[in-house]
Amino acid sequence: MASVSFATHEVLNQSPPFVDVNLFALDSPLADAVAANGGASAKQELMEFGQHWGSAVMAERGRLANENTPRLRTFDSKGNRRDEVEFHPAYHELMARSAHAGLHNSTWTGDGRPAGAASEVVRAAKFYMAAGVETGHLCPITMTRASVAALAVQPDLLAKTMPVIGTRAYDPTFAPWPTKRGMTLGMGMTEKQGGTDVRSNMTRATRDGEAYRITGHKWFMSAPMCDAFLVLAQADEGLSCFFMPRFLPDGTVNAIEFQRLKDKLGNRSNASSEVEFLDAYATRVGEEGKGIRTIIQMVQLTRQDCAIASAGLMRSGLAHALFHARHRSVFQKHLADQPLMQAVLSDMALHVEASIALVMRLCRSFDRAPNDQAEAAYMRLLTPAIKYWVCKSAPGFLYEAMECLGGNGYVEEGILARHYRESPVNAIWEGSGNVMCLDVLRALSREPDAAASILADLAAETAGLAHAAEVAAVIGSSFRRTDSERTARLAVEKLALLAAAAALNQVSPPQAELFANTRLAGNGAGMYGAVDLAQDDITRLLDRSLPT
Ligand SMILES: Cc1cc2nc3c(=O)[nH]c(=O)nc-3n(C[C@H](O)[C@H](O)[C@H](O)COP(=O)(O)OP(=O)(O)OC[C@H]3O[C@@H](n4cnc5c(N)ncnc54)[C@H](O)[C@@H]3O)c2cc1C
Repeated sequence: MASVSFATHEVLNQSPPFVDVNLFALDSPLADAVAANGGASAKQELMEFGQHWGSAVMAERGRLANENTPRLRTFDSKGNRRDEVEFHPAYHELMARSAHAGLHNSTWTGDGRPAGAASEVVRAAKFYMAAGVETGHLCPITMTRASVAALAVQPDLLAKTMPVIGTRAYDPTFAPWPTKRGMTLGMGMTEKQGGTDVRSNMTRATRDGEAYRITGHKWFMSAPMCDAFLVLAQADEGLSCFFMPRFLPDGTVNAIEFQRLKDKLGNRSNASSEVEFLDAYATRVGEEGKGIRTIIQMVQLTRQDCAIASAGLMRSGLAHALFHARHRSVFQKHLADQPLMQAVLSDMALHVEASIALVMRLCRSFDRAPNDQAEAAYMRLLTPAIKYWVCKSAPGFLYEAMECLGGNGYVEEGILARHYRESPVNAIWEGSGNVMCLDVLRALSREPDAAASILADLAAETAGLAHAAEVAAVIGSSFRRTDSERTARLAVEKLALLAAAAALNQVSPPQAELFANTRLAGNGAGMYGAVDLAQDDITRLLDRSLPT
């Protein structure tokens, strides 16, 4: 990179920006994981996506969308309620690009059925790359995509909304959804007194002819400019799911009053609101009293996206760290050539390889679940385990990636500080860590035979890998314990590790061996780089992560 002269000094030895790169072409672990899970034929489509999302223009949109935060306009200048949130044009651009690529709908057919083939795997690859550029806007994207699974229990509503959800247009106008070219959906479950325990929801729903009137609050409701929300409220028969549009059928604005926007730790581009419903109009989704069963269809998919996005954040952190290390010299030698930095980066590369292999394996199960009971059981048991392990590993990973850039990593102008701030949220929302572990236990107790068969498959797929048999035995015995809840984190982490080793073995056996050697023995030091990898392995891991 050409040096710049100041009056006092020249700018030297700074790494160039990691932009105008093809995020797919540079990422062998991603390409291999996509191919191994049925997505090989989408290579050209993913190359085009990677080229576009790796551009300097997209990176700049990510920066602008985060530096220019959304603003709540509660009232207009005359004191009338507006309840609108204004976003920066860069945020709208990001939304438009993601919608154009079908991130909000490509796993569904036009009438709202699972699209099948490798649509989950291919979309996940795009979602993963987009997450490395800007995650805030992906919140309404993921909720919109996932909402279709809940709407499916109300076929008349699905039939009406799918023609609008199903387009690849992004339409930010504040107008009734049936009049729009495209729409987004959010969800409102969490209340002040309980987020995990949604049964404690106090928001009330009363019948009003065919529709309902909803009164109450939501303590977290993200992406408040969505065109409609799936909301939980107590009806006569118990907790029920409702479709609450921003406008009534007669075109007047619905009584959805935003109290304030949350001052959150993570991305700054997206808004999360506190909201009150004052006799707000809504229609029911599914049966009264079956609200949790209905919305859990949606939550299963947002959990999947949490894991994909966290893996994407880590990949981006690794790529930036490795790229920097290849350009930055310390003691007359590039950081990437220093043995200790190589140990750190290659160990991180191994974590990312395992994470993307595991996430893509999970997405394959989503692709196949409608027609394959074993894959459906894998999806149910492993979604919470994978969300738990991948999402919880992201903050520590991104902290390490940040440190690879030294002080520059810690400064908000760079993307790593943003990724680091963002990384905890995927573990917290859509079911926090403990809740994921309890979900694994629930899946085990509901389907013990299917769970035993998945564990047997994982043992077979990891046969010959160091420590795999011991880990499989530990998982089995932990889950059989009468006090399994107390040790659930231990067992769930091991389940995810074994599943990662199995997934990696299908993508890249040499990496699976390294993963088993360093992760399954259970005697790791817990810090990246505190491993003893051979030089050939280090070189291969780093070359696969980012070709020189
Ligand atoms: C940025 C952001 C955006 C969000 N957007 C939305 C949104 O759009 N819509 C929405 O509805 N919600 C949203 N949420 C809320 C989120 O889903 C909840 O915060 C989350 O589900 C946890 O609920 P809670 O905050 O009430 O914590 P609690 O339910 O009080 O849980 C606190 C802790 O206790 C643990 N815990 C819970 N039960 C058990 C148990 N039985 N045993 C052991 N440990 C347990 C949990 O794992 C957690 O760590 C958002 C949250 C954030 C941070």
